[in-house]
Amino acid sequence: MTESLFADIIVDISHERLDRTFQYRIPEALRTEVRQGSVVRIPFGKGGRITKGYVMKLTGTPEIEPSRIKDICEVVSGDAGTSGEDRLVALAAWMRERYGSTMVQALRTVIPVKQKIKPRQKKSLRLLLDEEQTQEKIAFYRQKNQRARLRLLEALEVEQELPYELATGRLNISAATVKAMEEQGVLACETVAVYRNPVHQSGASNIRIPLNEEQSRIVEDIRRNWDNPQQTVSLIHGITGSGKTEIYMELIDTVIARGQQAIVLIPEIALTYQTVMRFYRRFGERISIIHSRLSAGERYDQFQRARAGDIDVMIGPRSALFTPFPDLGIIIIDEEHEPTYQSEQTPRYHARETAIKRAELEHAKVILGSATPSLEAYSRALDGEYALYTLKKRAKNSSLPETVVADMRRELAEGNRSILGRTLKKELEQCLARGQQAMLFLNRRGYSGFLSCRACGHVLMCPHCDVSLSLHNNGRMVCHYCGYTERRPARCPKCGSEFLSGFGIGTQQAQEMVAREFPQARILRMDMDTTREKDGHEKILSAFANREADILIGTQMIVKGHDFPDVTLVGILAADLSLFADDYRASERTFQLITQAAGRAGRGKELGKVVIQTYDPEHYCIRTAAAQDYESFYEEEISYRMVAGYPPARKMLSIHGTCRDEQHLGVAMEYLRRLAERIYKNSEGNIIGPAPESIAKIQEVYRRVLYIKAGTMEELTAIKDRLEQYIEANDGYRSVGIQFDMNE
Ligand code: ADP
Ligand code: ZN
Ligand code: ZN
Repeated sequence: MTESLFADIIVDISHERLDRTFQYRIPEALRTEVRQGSVVRIPFGKGGRITKGYVMKLTGTPEIEPSRIKDICEVVSGDAGTSGEDRLVALAAWMRERYGSTMVQALRTVIPVKQKIKPRQKKSLRLLLDEEQTQEKIAFYRQKNQRARLRLLEALEVEQELPYELATGRLNISAATVKAMEEQGVLACETVAVYRNPVHQSGASNIRIPLNEEQSRIVEDIRRNWDNPQQTVSLIHGITGSGKTEIYMELIDTVIARGQQAIVLIPEIALTYQTVMRFYRRFGERISIIHSRLSAGERYDQFQRARAGDIDVMIGPRSALFTPFPDLGIIIIDEEHEPTYQSEQTPRYHARETAIKRAELEHAKVILGSATPSLEAYSRALDGEYALYTLKKRAKNSSLPETVVADMRRELAEGNRSILGRTLKKELEQCLARGQQAMLFLNRRGYSGFLSCRACGHVLMCPHCDVSLSLHNNGRMVCHYCGYTERRPARCPKCGSEFLSGFGIGTQQAQEMVAREFPQARILRMDMDTTREKDGHEKILSAFANREADILIGTQMIVKGHDFPDVTLVGILAADLSLFADDYRASERTFQLITQAAGRAGRGKELGKVVIQTYDPEHYCIRTAAAQDYESFYEEEISYRMVAGYPPARKMLSIHGTCRDEQHLGVAMEYLRRLAERIYKNSEGNIIGPAPESIAKIQEVYRRVLYIKAGTMEELTAIKDRLEQYIEANDGYRSVGIQFDMNE
């Protein structure tokens, strides 16, 4: 064996023309440390500035005259003696190829880098009661219906000690509640220095729920097929509350028993704290969490713990997918249909496809779970590419809510212009009279959609973006894209008419209208505007959970996660497809949303009801969502995708271009289309655009998009590669931002 004296290294500089390796010498002292995938410091360029680099390959033979090869300075990641980075490098190479990016961009996504460490101060809550006192107190809180206190005490009963942030954050406990419990001598609030440990670690209580027959059948079948190379991926299609999470935990047990590790991806930690807590209770200190509030250093530490074998389970959003476990056994993707699984930065990787690739490279299993699987996943499951398992009943036998479709066209015809249709209004009355809670969902924020002139039709637009300004009730007009604001004009700036009026309604206006109809009801609102401050989400959700309000009105964010046992009514104020206009997934997103919203109702003992207000009650998406019939929805939707040639029936590459110079952008995109036509033999009908994006300008930057469709990923990837080369070689693209978005 020849000794590895040299390393081929990718230099960490964002520069398309540097998308290649440079050779460095490995000094004697670093020979045992430098491996494929190591992050190192190296001198680079004329001044020999010290720069970061990623080791791609070790070699014994120099490419250039050895005396000209410089030395590696130091290794900044990876512990000697562990491996695994090489497979992550292979994964990065695949992502680069599949999604279009430079190797550096792909590596930065996959391999985190060590940061300087600063210990921080953290507050923590410690339980002061013994077991018996705890039980008494629990009974007391339960009797008094003090839910927040009960929730915190129950968590403390299991954990004994909790980080303050976790209590006020994921557990939704208000500071006042914590203080009150401290005064009662239930707990102590202490400040401790912590060494970047994002979550408190203490023993697991390993609470286990015996699986029911359906759950066991699925677990057994997946176990039986563990060594079957034909079954890498399993899709569990199970309605909300059908017990998917219990299945995940059982499978993780299997993996841990084999001496392997598990990654669990969830869409958004802030909205799924209850799920996270369940994993905690089961796996205790063998689990770690990554969430978006962690600093790069904290994230690196968590990866380091994984690499060192200190933990078995990593739970987090899509970036947790790159946890460098020594022997990865399983990747679970909960709510696999969620759009957050697709990265918005280059490379715009999809966590589902990337997880499957990683599992193939490391001989691990992938479990996808959803109540409303993505068309992609479900069609592959039907094709036999993934194993398909179905759960049709809620695990606790609480029934699914009853759904009612309310035709808003009729309301309008009868002169009712309120956002509350007759049916929803009646249901709200009854719900409030019973002392229960309701959630109203609307997909728009702000006071009203936009302001327009009744005389000339002029719409007030943002001067920097191609969007209308939204009217807020402080009398100001706001751009939701760049933050530009101006005073609401008294007259139309174009024709001088005084008749300016708001169109469409936002959450703020909805709140006012509901307040007018139900003056006695306590109403909370949750949208981008009310959750801007740091713990905004948690505060509102905890107030609602504590029954400080009867009605919660909000945008999409209220339909996810939280269990509110007293919510028996969910109203979807406008369930129409136009909510997601301009996307071939409009129906899919609408179906998912209605299903998710419906899943919020009747989680406790009482039966729930869902009122879906729509102007399009006959649309298959509304019909099937109301009937909670995923299979029928899928049949309709997949035939639409086939006819229209959209994924998953065909593969589609979107090329997004941005530039401050509109004309230059137009030319640059046009050249891409022409090149695509030349290299694509079957271009007829498969190249669409370039056209302005639905929002054609944001903050003075113009935006255009070109779509290319193909039958296979191979075909499309080949075209993408040629376009990438062309863009790299032509100076005309220096001032143009190009992003590839691959949908398969
Ligand atoms: P999903 O992940 O599909 O939404 P969960 O696993 O969260 O479903 O289960 C929903 C609820 O049912 C949870 O409160 C869970 O504790 C409970 N549950 C799940 N499986 C069982 C079971 N076999 N027996 C009793 N309760 C169960
Ligand atoms: Zn006018
Ligand atoms: Zn703007």
